[in-house]
Amino acid sequence: MRTTQSAKFFQEAQSVIPGGVNSPVRAFASVGGTPIFFERGDGAFLFDVDGNRYLDFVSSWGPLILGHRHPAVVRAVEEALTKGTSFGAPTEAEIRLAQKVTELVPSVACVRMVNSGTEATMTAIRLARGVTGRSKIVKFEGCYHGHADSFLMKAGSGVATLGIPGSPGVPKSLARDTLLAPYNDLKAVEALFDAFPDQIAAIIVEPVAGNMGTVPPRPGFLERLRALATRAGSLLIFDEVITGFRVSEGGAQKHFNILPDLTCLGKIIGGGLPVGAVGGSCDLMRGLAPTGQVYQAGTLSGNPLAMAAGRATLETLANEEVLPRLNATADTFLTTLQAEISRRGFPVHLNHIASRFTLFFGEGPVSNFEEASRTDAGRYARFFHKLLERGIYFPPSPFETVFLSAAMTEDDLNFAHTAILSSLEEVF
Ligand code: PLP
Repeated sequence: MRTTQSAKFFQEAQSVIPGGVNSPVRAFASVGGTPIFFERGDGAFLFDVDGNRYLDFVSSWGPLILGHRHPAVVRAVEEALTKGTSFGAPTEAEIRLAQKVTELVPSVACVRMVNSGTEATMTAIRLARGVTGRSKIVKFEGCYHGHADSFLMKAGSGVATLGIPGSPGVPKSLARDTLLAPYNDLKAVEALFDAFPDQIAAIIVEPVAGNMGTVPPRPGFLERLRALATRAGSLLIFDEVITGFRVSEGGAQKHFNILPDLTCLGKIIGGGLPVGAVGGSCDLMRGLAPTGQVYQAGTLSGNPLAMAAGRATLETLANEEVLPRLNATADTFLTTLQAEISRRGFPVHLNHIASRFTLFFGEGPVSNFEEASRTDAGRYARFFHKLLERGIYFPPSPFETVFLSAAMTEDDLNFAHTAILSSLEEVF
């Protein structure tokens, strides 16, 4: 496999872009080698600038659940484009996407569109702090909620990949207001509520963790968080940037039947264009300006192209019953893979829910960040490159989630099954 042009671009990129990338985990820092520069995507496949083709298990880190350039999404964006790219004023498209979101996500009756998951989580905690008059938030180790100041303590995703414990630049005074607990550890959360009575504005949690690899909640974990937040007068925020519209059409909250006060959305809601959203009851959401005092704004928020891509994606998911089929396909693929991994005795642990999974290189279980961190990152790196050589694009980090897309066929997944097992054979 030749990647000469990617290497040339990476060299050039580093002279004008810090690290040559616009988001750190793309840099291949934890797997080594040169990041692949892509030229185009089509359905389940990515094509790089050297002409190599890859079955795409990254899906742009989640948004592309329908695959690349789904016809309905392309059509919707093209149509929107004929009318203009941005107005900085309200459009009907914003209402229609907001209505779709409120139809699908059980706890969301009013929703504010933003441009990224980070903006959504940042807005959610500002609103939680604003309405409760409290400062502290509870966050879980290994969860990633974007790169706002309050979230970078023991964060997952690129922060974990690069081994950064916190981030210089985050004021200590602010960091003190972020209280940390291990994922799935209720005793630790209870202890925080005991230690800081009447001071906690919100618990923010990925209802299925995705940024230390996929780590599902233990039975009872989310229920108890709900009860603890209610009892303490704190808000429960579900960061459904990954789980939204994937774990079920109504997200993890519908799957587990637990209603948070605020929900953060991103990724799939924009169908591959930059969109995030925060939603909840209208009472609570009206705390945001202009109805309320909690300030939040965005020049490009509700952008018509992004609204069109998001709406086309959510409508296709709902109208064509994509998720039941995708989840069933994923189930078969992952159950077969798990059986073969066990039969061959590879010390690899598979966590999975719906159409997302992580192969942890170590004996399981993996139910929190500490356990995820004990897995063998070096061996994952070798596995990643073996897959790449076989035309499979996995996340370039052991602490990430692998995504199936609805564009993958049975043949694609049979090919992936063989490639994954052959690559495992070679690294063990
Ligand atoms: N929340 C979660 C759960 C995420 O996985 C991410 C990004 O990966 C974010 C928030 C931040 O979203 P964005 O990268 O769009 O700012």
